[in-house]
Amino acid sequence: MKFDCEKCGDVDAVIVDGYGFGDRLLEGVMFKVFYKDGELVAEVMPDSADYFNDLNTKKWLDACVQHVKDMEDDVEGQCPCCDEGIYLRPDNKPRG
Ligand SMILES: [Zn+2]
Repeated sequence: MKFDCEKCGDVDAVIVDGYGFGDRLLEGVMFKVFYKDGELVAEVMPDSADYFNDLNTKKWLDACVQHVKDMEDDVEGQCPCCDEGIYLRPDNKPRG
């Protein structure tokens, strides 16, 4: 499974700002969310890894995945291909 960017077509991941689920604690901390064996998983972008080492990693990665799941059809984030802030759609949810 992939995400669908309006400009690029299928992309492997969506990049989201931690602010969406961690508020100020995670503002500017970027997460990469992608499908692994059919399940959504999250990882911290390398640029943010040092900061994140002090936090409860599993808790926040779970929160990140839930945040993306909650957005369902239109995941607000950044495309890893064109770097645009954009809505990405999981490819199992066709555009209506
Ligand atoms: Zn794109």
